[in-house]
Amino acid sequence: MKIETLAIHAGAAADPTTGSVAPPIHLSTNFIHGPASEEIHGYTYVRDKNPTQDRLETAMSALEGGEDALAFSSGMGATTAFFQTLAPHSHVIIPEDVYVHVRVLAATYFANWQLKFTSVDTQSPAAISAAVCPNTRVIWTETPSNPQMKIMDIPAAAKIARESGACLVVDNTFATPVLQRPLELGADVVMHSTTKYCGGHSDVQGGCLVFKQRAPLYDKLFHIRMVLGAVCSPFNSWLILRGLRTLPCRIERHSANAMAVAKALAQAKKVERVFYPGLPSHPGHEIAAAQMKLFGGMMSILVRGGWEEAVRVVSRVKVFQAATSLGGVESLIEHRASAEGEGSTSPRNLLRLSIGLEHPDDLIADLLQAMA
Ligand SMILES: *Cc1c(COP(=O)(O)O)cnc(C)c1O
Repeated sequence: MKIETLAIHAGAAADPTTGSVAPPIHLSTNFIHGPASEEIHGYTYVRDKNPTQDRLETAMSALEGGEDALAFSSGMGATTAFFQTLAPHSHVIIPEDVYVHVRVLAATYFANWQLKFTSVDTQSPAAISAAVCPNTRVIWTETPSNPQMKIMDIPAAAKIARESGACLVVDNTFATPVLQRPLELGADVVMHSTTKYCGGHSDVQGGCLVFKQRAPLYDKLFHIRMVLGAVCSPFNSWLILRGLRTLPCRIERHSANAMAVAKALAQAKKVERVFYPGLPSHPGHEIAAAQMKLFGGMMSILVRGGWEEAVRVVSRVKVFQAATSLGGVESLIEHRASAEGEGSTSPRNLLRLSIGLEHPDDLIADLLQAMA
């Protein structure tokens, strides 16, 4: 089945007791069991699993083409749980340009868990290869990366992971399964911040891990989630599931709008660089064209000048809103160096844009007036 059809029907079986077309939300935290705690209805306690979260997991694994999925309370909840599967002294490779709190997680907490890590420029398969050591267990990647829109060659990284016995994880938050299917390109696990495009309306937080094969990693993570507790609530599961229904439609429009904005900004005097993988000038354009269907709704730009000139543009927008996060229907703009704070690796004059579903002419006009 095509992804547009899966997005509508995966995890959407009509409720057998009422026939309701929209899925029910089961808010119950507990489920009746037998006198000696025998499971009767397939559920016991909400922190183990719950029926609404199950539907979301069915849908996420169908969309990514995995054998199973686990939903979490946030993208970072999913990420942290994943790293907690590792034995002490394991080594992890992470990208230099990676979602800020993955970098903070590694820098702040890996030592406590006796994990080692190396940050490398994952745009270069040679750099990944060079960083592999005998105890490398995970190659963590993000493509396109947040916020510099770097592109990593997933099949090339998969080859290195296979040869070194490491697990390849792709953070697919920016591309979504509509544009990029890492498990088909050789990845073992896909991570999502479903807070972003999957939810799609800036009103729910969630995370998800999708597994190419169910065992044994899935079982370990199911147990970690149950004990450590970063579960997705029934209501959040329901909202994310509802978001998934329109994901393919939204992503096509996000991508078309972003392409129009990127082309316009590439001509703007105030703009030094546009980082959008859909532009042939982007260093990762060819790899992105090979592994993505379209180029998505995210981009970043370097404003001519520095920190102050970039912040001035943000202060003058009228349609775009100055806010963090991304992937909602509304367009957002953010000066990443100030958002990331101390230790930020983003260029001082970088603005990240999440291109929404407004008309692209209005978005372009807004940015140009803000830069006038
Ligand atoms: C937001 C984000 C995360 C973290 O997800 P949360 O839901 O905010 O915890 C991870 N990776 C990427 C690429 C993100 O944009």
